[in-house]
Amino acid sequence: ESLAPRSSLGRVVVLAQRLLAEVIRPDARLLDLTAGNGCDSLFLARHLGPDGQLLSFDIQLSAIEATAVRLAAAGFLPRRVATRVPLHEPGCQLIHDGHQFLDAYLTGPVAAAIGNLGYLPGGDKQLITRAETTLEALRALWPRLEAGGRLALVLYPGHPGGDEECAAVEWECAGLPAAAFDVIRLQVYNRRRAPSLLVVERRL
Ligand code: SAM
Repeated sequence: ESLAPRSSLGRVVVLAQRLLAEVIRPDARLLDLTAGNGCDSLFLARHLGPDGQLLSFDIQLSAIEATAVRLAAAGFLPRRVATRVPLHEPGCQLIHDGHQFLDAYLTGPVAAAIGNLGYLPGGDKQLITRAETTLEALRALWPRLEAGGRLALVLYPGHPGGDEECAAVEWECAGLPAAAFDVIRLQVYNRRRAPSLLVVERRL
């Protein structure tokens, strides 16, 4: 079975996953900044070998549970992390904490990270990612991204707080030094309020 999901250009999440897959080695360290229903975490977990590590964050316990169920159904055995300590063990770790605290858990460089921002589909629309904490997470991640490593961010305008977060994240990424990072943006050009994709790569 191919690991590459079927894609159409209008599904920027799938494009995000494809661009991350290109840089994932089996022993890589991967981050899902927003576990949600676990679709992105499952995608990342499928690319890991026994020595790789996936850290998935979410502030909602229901999202951590949904991700655990999805991973377990696919044969992965995720570990739940309840305390803010450095994580050395390989495998999938589900962290019930904000992604802005990622530095407390990381023990080495990150090869690929995804941040599917906004609110959990089918969940509480009040519990959205927010510009301030998203920026904290990004600023913690930049020095942790390994050479050739990538971060994919899916940005959703339109919901309350969404436009502000999109603008703040775009501003942050546009300001990254060109000597150290390449940043691309992909957007569905003929649809209003469509999500857009930012991919940041640390230069080799
Ligand atoms: N990647 C998910 C998937 O595959 O289903 C979708 C993620 S959903 C669009 C956004 C998630 O971000 C929500 O589940 C929400 O609880 C979570 N979230 C909001 N603020 C957060 C924070 N500071 N740290 C971690 N997760 C956060």
